[in-house]
Amino acid sequence: MMRDIGYIRIMKIPFNKSWLSGKETVYINELVRGEHFSGNGPFTRRCREVLSNQYGYGENYLTTSCTDALELSALLCDIGPGDEVILPSYTFVSTANAFALRGATLKFADSLPDHPNIDPASVKKLISKQTKAIVLMHYAGMACDMHALLRIAQEKNLFLIEDAAQCIGAYYEGQALGTLGDLGTLSFHETKNLHCGEGGALLINNKRLMKKAELAIEKGTNRMAFLRGETSSYEWQSLGSSFLPPETSAAFLLAQLENGTEALAHRKSLWNCYFNHLTSVSSPLWKLPKIETWMDHNAHHFFILCKDQSTRDRIRKHLAEKNIASSFHYIPLHTSSFISKQNAQHVSLPNAERFGETLLRLPLFNTLTEQEVDEVCKAVLGEQ
Ligand SMILES: *Cc1c(COP(=O)(O)O)cnc(C)c1O
Repeated sequence: MMRDIGYIRIMKIPFNKSWLSGKETVYINELVRGEHFSGNGPFTRRCREVLSNQYGYGENYLTTSCTDALELSALLCDIGPGDEVILPSYTFVSTANAFALRGATLKFADSLPDHPNIDPASVKKLISKQTKAIVLMHYAGMACDMHALLRIAQEKNLFLIEDAAQCIGAYYEGQALGTLGDLGTLSFHETKNLHCGEGGALLINNKRLMKKAELAIEKGTNRMAFLRGETSSYEWQSLGSSFLPPETSAAFLLAQLENGTEALAHRKSLWNCYFNHLTSVSSPLWKLPKIETWMDHNAHHFFILCKDQSTRDRIRKHLAEKNIASSFHYIPLHTSSFISKQNAQHVSLPNAERFGETLLRLPLFNTLTEQEVDEVCKAVLGEQ
């Protein structure tokens, strides 16, 4: 991974650039003139309303990160030792860490053949009497096969948790990603389409988990009921932790959420530029992923699938010579040193392994220009 950084920094076209709406300081100034700085204040309330009304996220809480929201999800589903959790191997470590921290046994599923998203057929094969939850991750803001996954979860009575870290503004059949399973998690990390440096949200779609969430998010106390005037004091009632972001984060985030529409539309148009340019060419060295019609995605990443790892290295080197940064993703979790140390038996997940070796991400960020996308495409096509 360290080797990768050299390609990313100080390029003429960088891989990513963090975005500012320009309104952040307006809200930060408003905040410092007020008196509420800890979590769950007026800015948090306004963020939650915008997430609900403008983005379709229904019942939601802000958290300090998506990692945090995933850990909270594991807590809410009462995951513990002896429980098995099925999740993709091709994902970011936080998807897995949250459940490993609670002592669950992780069962890694493979990706689809033509897309990094989890393969429902692979999930089905892993179900046992101990299975308690399925966790999925919508790669690049592109929806997993929710029809199939929801059916499996319902038939087997399992929790379905959506790691929708990359999904702000992405939909499946008109429904926001993160609102289809029992729980969903968003990230507002600096590298995501909209951000507040570090931040996240938990989306609660299963009504039975709402009361529990209200306690867990306030360190396991009924402080929220107390603040609403429903009790005269608050006390320890369940397991919980400190998940609420401060109002400084919420003020920054509100500026992004309220003013992000244009930037997100521009980002989508850049993704389409890439796609239209590269789909018109047939190359022996790389292909595009299979984009299903129901993936109403948010252009989080643009990626191509190279023939093999050495082809990917060669294209990256060629791009770097043209002063263009690029990146790859992920080292599949079942092959990570943390998991390999624990499992004597090696599992083979050929699709996840292939994406780990061949997936190449091209620069895409809210302030990239169409000319720059053209330049990147020309450079990719130059290496045939
Ligand atoms: C970014 C990301 C996370 C972690 O988000 P944080 O807000 O940084 O904790 C988790 N899962 C996926 C798939 C991500 O892309």
